[in-house]
Amino acid sequence: MDGWTRQTLAAQAMGRIDAQTRAVVPPIHLSTTYLRDPDNGYASGFVYGRPDNATVRDTEAVIAMLEEAPAGALLFSSGMAAATACFMALAPGDHVVASAVMYWSLRNWLRTEATRWGLRVDFVATDDLDALKAAMRPGETKLVWIETPSNPLWTITDIAAAADIAHAAGARLAVDSTCASPYHTRPLALGADIVMHAATKVLNGHSDVIAGVLAGARPDEYWDRLETIRRGGGAILGPLEAYLLQRGLKTVFVRAAAQARAAQALAERLAAHPLVAQVLYPGLPGHPGHAVAARQMENGFGFMLSVRVRGGEAAAVATAASVRLWKRATSLGGVESLIEHRASIEGPGTPCPADLLRLSTGLEAVDDLHADLDCALAAAHA
Ligand SMILES: *Cc1c(COP(=O)(O)O)cnc(C)c1O
Repeated sequence: MDGWTRQTLAAQAMGRIDAQTRAVVPPIHLSTTYLRDPDNGYASGFVYGRPDNATVRDTEAVIAMLEEAPAGALLFSSGMAAATACFMALAPGDHVVASAVMYWSLRNWLRTEATRWGLRVDFVATDDLDALKAAMRPGETKLVWIETPSNPLWTITDIAAAADIAHAAGARLAVDSTCASPYHTRPLALGADIVMHAATKVLNGHSDVIAGVLAGARPDEYWDRLETIRRGGGAILGPLEAYLLQRGLKTVFVRAAAQARAAQALAERLAAHPLVAQVLYPGLPGHPGHAVAARQMENGFGFMLSVRVRGGEAAAVATAASVRLWKRATSLGGVESLIEHRASIEGPGTPCPADLLRLSTGLEAVDDLHADLDCALAAAHA
């Protein structure tokens, strides 16, 4: 649109003005139904609230613009609803390859529900391209699912290389880009077919909306199936949530920028902390995915990092128990910084080390965030 940047278009939610009132902030459309024409048609194209809602569509347009998605975007009632639709659009017997280190709830769903549905799922270390290649079954593998950076080790998968490998075997590549955000990574430009976000996280950014979204590289038969699954299954986003998300999207670039700067500074300071055994952050040169991340991420390396605390699980839990400024809570990407002992929420079978604390950096001053962690680490080791 006029060559304006994504930041400019996002700041004005595409610059739409309400046609009737000239309101700069559009109204929230709550109606569940629309008046039918006297000739029995629906010239407006709006029939019923489940598939048709202007607030939802306007918010989808902003995300489609951010992801530069020719097929557009589809909002869902949660990140999980968006992600699971990608698998429900496959057929029983289809083979799927997914990252071994990934968002825990989705991994569990793939291991249980997707398998019951008849999908054959293999989990591989997708940061190892040879392992990914070896896992492909040409003609049978229909979808490769990666998350990058991935929870909670911030493992980096090379999106362009994974797309080549998937396509060579006749599969699509879907990328959970929640922890990268459109500010840092554009998976479709790198060759992915589908990008998914838990819009609950940094896209909304204020920890007050549960939402998910898919953006597509092309309006093909698979994309039609995703839309059909949402319409028929009914996992739609409500208009109030869509409005709040649209408001959050206006500031996503400035929030993501500030949060990534803070995360980088914290990672560097904590890496030198005597009570920290290891910092996991793709922006650190020692991180195994740093070189690939530097190539495929823009504007920094995101707002998520993890620290492994000296003294093991007990010291990690005690550190989380001692913070005052960081909020001890799950989730990520909000303006308030969150800390979480990840292994205890993921439970048995998790690949997450027991001494790991997951940090979601918000918008507080870095010095305050560092000082609070420094005190908590000292208290845990006293
Ligand atoms: C939170 C999250 C999800 C799931 O999103 P919900 O909105 O909680 O359903 C999926 N992937 C990642 C990486 C997440 O952080």
